[in-house]
Amino acid sequence: RLSLNQADPTIHNLIQEEIKRQRESINLIPSENHSSKAVLEALGSVMSTKYAEGYPGARYYGGTQVYDKVEVLCQQRALNAFNLNQNEWGVNVQMLSGAPANFAIYTGLLAPKDRIMSLDLPHGGHLSHGYQTETKKVSAVSSYFEVMPYRLNEETELIDYEQLEILARAFRPKLIVAGASAYARIIDFQAIRKICDSVKAYLLADISHTAGMMAAEQLPSPFPYADVVMTTTHKSMRGPRGSLIFYRVGQKEIDKNGKPINYDLKSKIDQAVFPGLQGGPHFHTITSIAVALEEAKTPEFQNYQKNVLLNSKKLADELLKRNFSLVSGGTDNHLVLVNLKPKSIDGARVESILQAVNISVNKNTVPKDKSALVPNGLRMGSVPMTSRGVNQDEFAQIADFIDRGVAIAQKVKGEAGPKVQDFKDWLNKHADQHPEIQKLK
Ligand code: PLP
Repeated sequence: RLSLNQADPTIHNLIQEEIKRQRESINLIPSENHSSKAVLEALGSVMSTKYAEGYPGARYYGGTQVYDKVEVLCQQRALNAFNLNQNEWGVNVQMLSGAPANFAIYTGLLAPKDRIMSLDLPHGGHLSHGYQTETKKVSAVSSYFEVMPYRLNEETELIDYEQLEILARAFRPKLIVAGASAYARIIDFQAIRKICDSVKAYLLADISHTAGMMAAEQLPSPFPYADVVMTTTHKSMRGPRGSLIFYRVGQKEIDKNGKPINYDLKSKIDQAVFPGLQGGPHFHTITSIAVALEEAKTPEFQNYQKNVLLNSKKLADELLKRNFSLVSGGTDNHLVLVNLKPKSIDGARVESILQAVNISVNKNTVPKDKSALVPNGLRMGSVPMTSRGVNQDEFAQIADFIDRGVAIAQKVKGEAGPKVQDFKDWLNKHADQHPEIQKLK
């Protein structure tokens, strides 16, 4: 019955320290967000007590009557959040996070060594889409499946759909992933559907980053085109860390001989999640996701998503005014990808300077980059700061901070030494006395 403060002051104090850090920083990491008090309350509830392996009505443990109600409610709310009809779509709410959810989809729909195509990581894709380099299978997905990346067009810096089609016809993938972690433009799901149809591949839309904007109908939906849609719940959806896997149900397809075949993905996906990859579902998370999904139907959520887009556009415009170069020239969504190459500085050094003044951004690869540790890009977004009520004028000010941070990084680079580590060592030693860094703080 002791509060955390009484039972474990050490951890209590660390949480207080983190609250202070979050309050005092400008967080521009586009994959992070702040959940409501209600979402956090459900997360820290007795719903973490029980084992409930299985699915509603078919559990391997007794006493799950309340858990069954919560899971069904969470499923209904997930379908409702994206205006889906339960005769066409089902949803699995048990997978613990985005990367394992993608793996569950691959193992559910594909056989080992089947072929996948996905956006290359240095061009904006996610690790869990099967990232590999010439020498290394970085993601386990690329060990268990054969993965061919598709890329951005070098001139437009948009997804090269023509190239994707040519490659798909040659590679004959069984599944194409449409989705990204660092792509600032609208993805043409319809175009990728056509390519999938031409090679008989599944279309997986990974909308982890943009799901909130899609639920609020501020960005085009992948649901009319995809077979499976995966989203994490903790980014623009504003929920706890978790994921949702939506799958088509009850659709008929015609086989080679003109016979209709059942194309219901429910059992494939559900079995892949449990018992394929997981044991007991994390019910505190599922309960908390249900709360976030209910919030996603409120006018406040709609308004929030509109502001996310306005703020991101403002950040992009203000950076362009300050002579920054943006990959693809701008943004249609919640994130901005800066190419720092024309400023003769890299993302790692700029990230370090900004971190020293409590501004969180991501160093990020941009097309043609060789190193993910010292890449030329900077990824920033409006998702968490919009949750904190920051408006467009304030985003203009943030663009100014970034500009000043880059100018400092350019100066320090010459002084510190050739390696990024020299730069970081220099920062550790000098940041506290450096007048421009202090001013920016
Ligand atoms: N898919 C995309 C597009 C992502 O951006 C991410 C995470 O950033 C993931 C999947 C993986 O999610 P998680 O970190 O929850 O495993």
